[in-house]
Amino acid sequence: MEKSGIEMLHFDVMDGVFVNNITYGLPILEQVRKTTDLILDVHLMITDPLRYVRRFAECGADYISFHIESESDTAETIRAIREAGAKTALAIKPATPAETVFEYLDQLDMVLVMTVEPGFGGQSFIPETVEKVRIIREKISSMGLDIRVEVDGGINDITSECVINAGADTLVSGSYLFKAENMAEAAGKIRREEI
Ligand code: ZN
Repeated sequence: MEKSGIEMLHFDVMDGVFVNNITYGLPILEQVRKTTDLILDVHLMITDPLRYVRRFAECGADYISFHIESESDTAETIRAIREAGAKTALAIKPATPAETVFEYLDQLDMVLVMTVEPGFGGQSFIPETVEKVRIIREKISSMGLDIRVEVDGGINDITSECVINAGADTLVSGSYLFKAENMAEAAGKIRREEI
């Protein structure tokens, strides 16, 4: 990833409760932190993120995303992430309206719009989510804020075009990059760079 010019390592944490899958957690993040200087973008798909954000920050997370649909209080969790010294991101599932994040925008560094249902890799992009990216980007611009809009799920050289046009500037890609023969070239195609 470093050699391919990738900016961030997106680290999906799943607890088997918030989503039907279990991945990895704190000890793995701590080890990953020791091996790379890439920005670590930790996406918490867990039921009670408030309980864990400080520890994820201590283990090296640069960004911490948590879901507005989780059971933790949103404002309190944002505060806890900031206090722990990490950048703060709020994530929404495909069925959650874009407007739900508006009241928190001035406290965020990033909004994560899920472009598939969270839980598993390798899923197909949901086209209806593009409009949410546009609505959130327009709101951010109208408020004069400087916040990343990240998309996660089914991002490849085809789907990246519409989300970039809608205002996404941070694109997460798993299967497409890791199945590519040349990751640097694949990343360039996602960014719609001329190669
Ligand atoms: Zn993710």
